Amino acid sequence: MHAKDYIALEENHGAHNYHPLDVVIERGEGAWVWDVEGRRYLDFLSAYSALNQGHRHPRIMAALSEQAARVTLTSRAFRNDQLGLLYQDLYDMLGYDLALPMNTGAEAVETAIKVARKWGYVVKGIPRHEAEIIVADGNFHGRTITVISFSTEPHYRDDFGPFTPGFTSVPFGDAAALEAAITPRTCAIMLEPIQGEAGVVVPPPGYLRAAADMAARHQVLLIADEIQTGLGRTGKLLSSDHEGVRPDLVILGKALGGGVYPVSAVLADRPILGLIQPGEHGSTFGGNPLGAAVARAALAVLREEGLADRAHDLGTYFMERLVEIPSPLVKEVRGQGLLIGVELKPEAGGARRYCEALMGRGILCKETHQNVIRFAPPLVIDRDALDWAVPHITDVLNPR
Ligand SMILES: *Cc1c(COP(=O)(O)O)cnc(C)c1O
Repeated sequence: MHAKDYIALEENHGAHNYHPLDVVIERGEGAWVWDVEGRRYLDFLSAYSALNQGHRHPRIMAALSEQAARVTLTSRAFRNDQLGLLYQDLYDMLGYDLALPMNTGAEAVETAIKVARKWGYVVKGIPRHEAEIIVADGNFHGRTITVISFSTEPHYRDDFGPFTPGFTSVPFGDAAALEAAITPRTCAIMLEPIQGEAGVVVPPPGYLRAAADMAARHQVLLIADEIQTGLGRTGKLLSSDHEGVRPDLVILGKALGGGVYPVSAVLADRPILGLIQPGEHGSTFGGNPLGAAVARAALAVLREEGLADRAHDLGTYFMERLVEIPSPLVKEVRGQGLLIGVELKPEAGGARRYCEALMGRGILCKETHQNVIRFAPPLVIDRDALDWAVPHITDVLNPR
């Protein structure tokens, strides 16, 4: 079979809920993937930061196969010998009393919303079923009905109502607007430290700090969705660390599963996450031993290979190289660590065609929000690979 045959199968028998580039990948290693015709590509998307540790990291693969050879699923009706160890690792690395494991990012976001609402009723004394959560315009927190209920992106939600009430959205990056939206019924503010899907939108310095301070002042929880920005991506373990902010709840996903298995979690201290009682929340696969073993290895790789520092050093270097590219099409280069967005000017005609041109040169990127090319390679990438990519990016951004 050739690439076109695989593509035809997908087109004919799969729902068209994505618009992928037409590259059919059959193998990956580190920062590189190979297609069915044997062509090699540098992966500059890393599955939206789920592959921070790279494709098939040997240590994570070993944890996967060793655990798969013992036991994969117990359900939480019984205990297993991996979950407690994962809790301990999360505590040691991130310092929150408790964790609640789920599978996908959207489920962990839902979990955080439930926990914040319960805290609002039980601790803050908000009248039952009236709690409000403040979010930011342009947010991306997943695809469930509740989560899209507070999306401001029309095609994420237009045909999918009725929506879950209880959310207020304010402009991202505007601390005054955030504070003005707080009411006695507000239980939480939920933010992405950097809005990845909105086009790598970096808020003004001090924004998250201001959000944390006002949350404390008004007895409101700060929830940081670090699913994309966390676990080393931006040059710190959490992006919140850049402003010395310790959110009340942290949501992790993506790279927590080391690029092999969906693992997500909500972290918070005992007075918050300790409110959840048996039966109030759960998931059949959440906290399963295979996922827990993989997540432990994924965290160990981040820690022992210093991937956050690596993201800082290589991100700083790569951003400088990108900024130097002379191009009539580039409006702005922005980002933090190895989460970088290149915003094109309107006359560029959208980012998609440049992603397709880059694919032709062995570089896999995806457009986000029409005009932005996101560069977010696995954190295990080396400087030589970045240096190899720069002239190709330069050529593609200078079409004749
Ligand atoms: C990807 C993402 C999610 C959703 O995660 P899924 O695993 O796709 O459900 C939520 N929040 C942010 C910031 C994300 O980047």
